[in-house]
Amino acid sequence: MAVLEIRKFKDPILRQKSQDIEEITDEIRKLAQDMKETMEKNQGVGLAAPQIGISKRIIVINPDLTNREFSVLLNPKITKISREKETNEEGCLCFPRLFLKIKRAKEVEAEGTKENGEKIKINAKGLLARVLQHEIDHLNGILIIDRLNFWQRWKIRKELRKI
Ligand code: ZN
Repeated sequence: MAVLEIRKFKDPILRQKSQDIEEITDEIRKLAQDMKETMEKNQGVGLAAPQIGISKRIIVINPDLTNREFSVLLNPKITKISREKETNEEGCLCFPRLFLKIKRAKEVEAEGTKENGEKIKINAKGLLARVLQHEIDHLNGILIIDRLNFWQRWKIRKELRKI
């Protein structure tokens, strides 16, 4: 396993739309392992492949920092979102030391494929719902700053220049 370098927010790869995973190969399984290790090392609650420079639809999540259970999801997508929204503080490994109040759907339903090929459906709320939305945004080239309004973004312009 290997800890991989996390790309910073100006890296153009973070703006690309990632490719679907057609087949679960050894390469994909190794990538998932490396992503788990990279996320754990950086104490993240989620990581998407573009963050380590790979434009593929794979995310790892662990919103429960008290355990070492990581979930890998291939080709994840949000299939339902609640109309009810929730604003909470959110960070991103691509924006070190920056925490922003981001408004997101309070509950989501997501689908994806596990490493063993099994298809799963997740009903999530609270932090898990937030992490899923955040990581799936990464697969579509969307970053947390895109979720801010003009004034919120203007207020953090100096911090952004330092990253
Ligand atoms: Zn992120």
